[in-house]
Amino acid sequence: MRNFLAIASLCVASTLGVRVASAQVQTVKLEVDLRDAPRRIYHSKMEFPVKPGPFTLVYPKWIPGEHSPNGPIVDVTGVHFRGNGQEISWRRDDVDLYAFHCVIPEGATTMEAKLDYLPPKEDGTAGSPSATAQVAVLPWNLVVLYPQGAKTDDVMFSASVRVPAGWKFATALQTVGGRSADSATFETISLTRLVDSPLLAGAFFKTYDLSPGQKPEHRLNIAADSAIATTLNKDQLTNLRQLVAETGALFGARHYRHYDFMLALTDHLPVNGLEHHESSDNRGGEKMLLDPDSLEGLMDLLPHEFFHSWNGKYRRPMGLATSNYQEPMKGDLLWVYEGLTQYYGVILAARSGFWKPEQFREYLAATFAALNDGRPGRAWRDLEDTAISVSILYGARPAGASWRRPVDYYEESELVWLEADTIIRRETKGQKSLDDFCRKFHGTEDGAIKVAPYTFDDVVATLNSIADYNWRKFFDERLHSHGPGAPLGGLEASGWKLSYSEEPNDHQRAAEQTDGTVDLSFSLGFTAHAAGDDVSSIADVIPGSPAAKAGVASGMKLVAVNGRKWNPDWLRVAIRDAKNSREPIRLLLENDDYYQTLEIDYHGGERYPHLESLHTADVLSEIARHRAPAVAK
Ligand SMILES: [Zn+2]
Repeated sequence: MRNFLAIASLCVASTLGVRVASAQVQTVKLEVDLRDAPRRIYHSKMEFPVKPGPFTLVYPKWIPGEHSPNGPIVDVTGVHFRGNGQEISWRRDDVDLYAFHCVIPEGATTMEAKLDYLPPKEDGTAGSPSATAQVAVLPWNLVVLYPQGAKTDDVMFSASVRVPAGWKFATALQTVGGRSADSATFETISLTRLVDSPLLAGAFFKTYDLSPGQKPEHRLNIAADSAIATTLNKDQLTNLRQLVAETGALFGARHYRHYDFMLALTDHLPVNGLEHHESSDNRGGEKMLLDPDSLEGLMDLLPHEFFHSWNGKYRRPMGLATSNYQEPMKGDLLWVYEGLTQYYGVILAARSGFWKPEQFREYLAATFAALNDGRPGRAWRDLEDTAISVSILYGARPAGASWRRPVDYYEESELVWLEADTIIRRETKGQKSLDDFCRKFHGTEDGAIKVAPYTFDDVVATLNSIADYNWRKFFDERLHSHGPGAPLGGLEASGWKLSYSEEPNDHQRAAEQTDGTVDLSFSLGFTAHAAGDDVSSIADVIPGSPAAKAGVASGMKLVAVNGRKWNPDWLRVAIRDAKNSREPIRLLLENDDYYQTLEIDYHGGERYPHLESLHTADVLSEIARHRAPAVAK
């Protein structure tokens, strides 16, 4: 993310040979003041036990779960070090810009380090927004420094926080010595666990019990830009309680003391989710719980981040299980870390009742059609390369996505794992499924909060212990295929196939509504912005599509369709009319300072994807069926 790659490779060299300070590190005291969060300033003060001599502190760079060297160092300001009552001057490393060198004076046993972090208002080239007028999210990596070379498991932190008067907050960290309305001191814990336990604060705040009367406890904490946005309806609460029950039935073990979903609902933070062992940092629009179309696109957000507690936090690929935040991560197994999570995120959304069977199929149809018909980029880039390239692809523009390929190790892995699921069922004559793999791979060591790293060989070996099959060859083919088309074998083995009709796909329709876009990927072959700052501009054009053949390109602005000022409805009318005509569809486009009319010779009518039954065994519905007893409404 954010094109930090050149710095990353240099940083490796500069951190090698550095004296590991972990043995000398005692507890760091950290005080974070969020009272200025509404004006986008987080204040941080740390106290390090030190010895006289050279000392280097670093700012977290490679952030767990983000798989990228995107620690927002550019917005770290007001850095001051003090010891013995005097200012200690620092010098940034010439190569590793995340490192601050200083010399601790004789006689000093502690050093105070202060910094301010400035959360950006807009998502841009630096860090991601984390504060609004009414909501603040505090991933602790934004406000900490730690000794260079130390393992984050070895550095202990004792953190406290203060929030604006009248705000409430939640975190998976446990408080010590009580907590007041707007401040708390937390348990002394490793830097790893601190960064793994973000804090959510807000003026409008509500907490829901998701496993009443049971241990471990599960809670949903919502901070929003308005009181009404924190309201969960009865069905949503029931579905979330069912989700907790479904993960119990699936894994049989949990890797947390208690689990806290954090949900920030505001239109001023980008929609996102970040996984942690005992919590997750989820962010959606202010109307997410109130507007069915907004919720439709985010049905799997909470299930996805929750599943990560097992797959990603507890079990983690060796290349992502780094010893500190300066060590580069390797993303080649993200098709397991993110891909299996993506698959089970949508399965759990269906098993928990968020998606009715028809909605679930519409989601799959829209997703699989985009991978099958909208990814000519697979001709040059294989699925594994989208995972290896994670840190550059997260920040990639939508323009050119079909030819570049986006982070397909998410959605395409749904097809890969669905196929694996159907193979296990076939090979074991229905006795086993991919659920058995999850139970064996992730469901061990109940109660342990730790990282158990794995390799590709471990995945293959566990699958072989469930169903004897050439899994190595299976994954090798799917990870290194260049098409044509997506691997749809699992969809067909589950009893369904992709088909197209003029009837809109409901998932696609809801996404268009929420995102302010028009999606004509499967007819003319492009997407465009129908609202917002980029209104009228073409987002992406699929190479080889009718629009691409006519010369339409991303970044051009739609002005008129067949001589009339464009809007999404009129564009669709033009596609319908062209079906019964020999006339091309004429688009007037603005390309920088020039206008041109392009003629698209397309007469196939509107086309939207759906799943059509093959009238064989409906394995897909069986996979999506709930496993746990239905929780009481
Ligand atoms: Zn994920």
